[in-house]
Amino acid sequence: MKMMTKSRGKKKKETKHSSLIVRWVSVVTLTILVSFVIFSVVVYSIVSQQSLDQQEEVSNNVVAAFERRLETIPNELQISNVIPSLTPSTKRILQGKPAISRGDNVNSAFNDDLLSSVTNPDISVAIYNKHNEVVFSNGNAVPEFHKFSGNSKTVKKQNGNNIRLITYQRIKSTTSGKIIGYIVVANQMNYYNRQMKNLLHWMLIISIIAIIIFSAIAYLVVRDVVKPIKEISEVAREVNDDPNSSMRIKELHRNDELEELATTFNEMLDRMQRYIDQQKEFVGDVSHELRTPVAVIEGHLNMLERWGKDDPQILDESIKASLQEADRMKHLIQEMLDLTRAEQINVQYPNAVTNVYNVLKRVVSGLALVHPDFKIRLDMDDLPANTEIQIYHGHLEQLLVILIDNGIKYSTDTKQINVSAGVSDNEVHIIVQDFGEGISKEDQEKIFNRFYRVDKARTREKGGNGLGLSIAQKLVTSYHGTISVESVEKQGSQFKLSFPILSAKEAARLRKLDQKKHEKM
Ligand code: ADP
Repeated sequence: MKMMTKSRGKKKKETKHSSLIVRWVSVVTLTILVSFVIFSVVVYSIVSQQSLDQQEEVSNNVVAAFERRLETIPNELQISNVIPSLTPSTKRILQGKPAISRGDNVNSAFNDDLLSSVTNPDISVAIYNKHNEVVFSNGNAVPEFHKFSGNSKTVKKQNGNNIRLITYQRIKSTTSGKIIGYIVVANQMNYYNRQMKNLLHWMLIISIIAIIIFSAIAYLVVRDVVKPIKEISEVAREVNDDPNSSMRIKELHRNDELEELATTFNEMLDRMQRYIDQQKEFVGDVSHELRTPVAVIEGHLNMLERWGKDDPQILDESIKASLQEADRMKHLIQEMLDLTRAEQINVQYPNAVTNVYNVLKRVVSGLALVHPDFKIRLDMDDLPANTEIQIYHGHLEQLLVILIDNGIKYSTDTKQINVSAGVSDNEVHIIVQDFGEGISKEDQEKIFNRFYRVDKARTREKGGNGLGLSIAQKLVTSYHGTISVESVEKQGSQFKLSFPILSAKEAARLRKLDQKKHEKM
């Protein structure tokens, strides 16, 4: 049943992935389609308008050529005055002169602009008189006359995909000033119609080719992007099913955001794995650490139960030893709590500001009272009294107590601890120095690990759990500081804390935020 649900879940996820490709390719295709449609409409309209203007000019030229010839006629147009006006040779024949004259060389019937008009197969001309009767026409189709207002008019007539232009023009005699007839020119625009059809045809073909090419490219690009995403989600699923899985994303070698994602993802998984391991280790360490005091208490109780309770001395010793172990356990539990809390500082005290000078003074004098056999020297000559850092004062106190306590714990003959503080490079440095047993180079690297003790038995004697320095390191890191150790065996150790100093302005800002937070609470 579980398997089925799982496989159904998987199937659903995979559909989502392929739908990403479908969605992406559809968007690209649609975008190209829309772009091409807009582009085609614009180009088609511009070309169409320009060609149409050209054709209109051709029609107008024809009209003008006819008008120039006919406007010299004073009376109403008739075949008898129109024909001679259009062809000079006819006019001459009517006047009884030879058909061809010397002037024909320059203005012959063949050079005549009328000739080009009437021989253009697209153009049909008709001349009408005032009674709407045809007095001249060329071609088979005689363009019809319709009444119109004004001097001239151009009409576009659509017949299926073909467009025709009809131009009407009134002829006014230049000699008598009267309207003597009308010119009607029909332009079939065959060339124009053919050209526009071709243009549409090619635009369609190019659009289809472009859509196919771009969609294919989009598919390849998206597939290239989706593949690593699929891989990432596969790894995520695997790790989700088994958090201990060592499965990681293979190196992508693509130098882009996806590679960055894969690297970050792998780092995140490694970190998670480390946390899990640490957690396991911690639980193991804790149970191990608790086992000893529990075993000691159990031993004493068993002994008392069997025979010891009747011997007042044994009873007294056992109770004392058990109480000591219980106290150790309490201490251990407190330290473990501190360690866990040290990791959540940013959430608890994000804006705390502390004066280093005051805290150092208070902690050192407090510890000096508790350890009267020790000489604890405090040197703050290089520390301005107003030095402030971003830390909760309780945590700075805890840090100092851990380091000074350790110094006291691991001191040998020289019962002296030197605490000094100073400022350099915008940082405050606090040094705690002892003259005790020191730490070997090898151990210096391990003492910050949880539960690490150089000499387990001896440290236990001194009440150490090996957690103090781990807590210190966690605290320091949370406050963006550093902790380091320098030590020579049998001579002593020196622990150094460093924190960035707050400017007066920044300290005031943080204090204000802290105040606001408290007011809200
Ligand atoms: P503990 O509670 O055992 O002192 P810490 O984490 O504070 O735990 O220290 C870890 C170990 O480092 C100690 O057990 C001790 O062996 C060593 N150590 C710490 N401070 C000093 C010091 N000032 N001098 C010598 N050894 C030290």
